[in-house]
Amino acid sequence: MYDFSYHRPTSLQDAVSLLAKQPDAKPMSGGMSLLPSMKLRLSKWTDVVDLAAIPDLSGIREEAGHIIIGARTRHVEVATSALLHAKLPALAELAEGIGDPLVRNRGTIGGSIANADPAADYPSSVVALDATIITTRREIAADAFFTGLFETALAHDELITAVRYKIPKRAAYMKFRHPASRYAIVGAFVAQMEGAVRVAITGAGPHVFRIAAYEDALTKTFSSAALDGVTPKLPSLNTDLHASADYRAHAVVEMVRRAVKAAAARKSI
Ligand SMILES: Cc1cc2nc3c(=O)[nH]c(=O)nc-3n(C[C@H](O)[C@H](O)[C@H](O)COP(=O)(O)OP(=O)(O)OC[C@H]3O[C@@H](n4cnc5c(N)ncnc54)[C@H](O)[C@@H]3O)c2cc1C
Repeated sequence: MYDFSYHRPTSLQDAVSLLAKQPDAKPMSGGMSLLPSMKLRLSKWTDVVDLAAIPDLSGIREEAGHIIIGARTRHVEVATSALLHAKLPALAELAEGIGDPLVRNRGTIGGSIANADPAADYPSSVVALDATIITTRREIAADAFFTGLFETALAHDELITAVRYKIPKRAAYMKFRHPASRYAIVGAFVAQMEGAVRVAITGAGPHVFRIAAYEDALTKTFSSAALDGVTPKLPSLNTDLHASADYRAHAVVEMVRRAVKAAAARKSI
């Protein structure tokens, strides 16, 4: 790890001005992705701006038919939320499947989304549920947020404050996970929304993507049989030491089928 200055602001305004002053400053939430990358010298920052002392950045609430989750809400809180188990169980299940107890106790939803790791779980929920990312500057639609490998629409001095999720009729998340880290080799989030079905895939490509052909077929008939004979047009998929692109393409089809079956078995909200 390289030397850096540590800051612990107590307001969002102070955090944003610290970031604005230093081009190589970085915000830290749970530190579960940022700190390992710094320790391994994969990244180097002059200043780390810890968001932990800023009030009102965590919590899960229902408001005007949406679920709003504060950026510093930890994975364990999402996994155990009674509200989510009643209204959006797929998201609680997704959070329960992240990493290990240590990671779930420290890692946060805002950190995971801002990090935009291609194998992270949350991005698929954000896109499938047509969520809105609320930041210190604006609101960003899910489809415009993830722009590349570890890249998002966020500016250097822009912080996520919350994520606003639409409540689907039914949804499910299925992942073929790495056996050690539990990161998604391929993960599929399927959501039956009012009027349309959305299918978002994580783990397979440089960033989360949707599959239009599956969405069209499932919007007509929400059943795994509706996918028979539909050939999805997939973007260029990742090949790495965990899986080849061909293997991932097969896993995409299988994970979507499993997610549709799991969602279809749920009571509609
Ligand atoms: C062993 C291990 C296993 C894991 N397994 C999984 C897994 O199975 N699935 C999965 O999805 N993830 C997994 N993770 C990642 C984990 O979920 C992290 O918690 C998450 O990626 C980052 O969240 P964090 O709160 O720790 O963010 P940090 O590490 O603090 O930050 C991550 C990035 O987000 C930025 N950032 C943080 N908060 C904000 C904000 N509010 N606004 C703007 N930018 C911000 C930081 O500057 C940094 O670039 C694993 C991690 C480890 C170490």
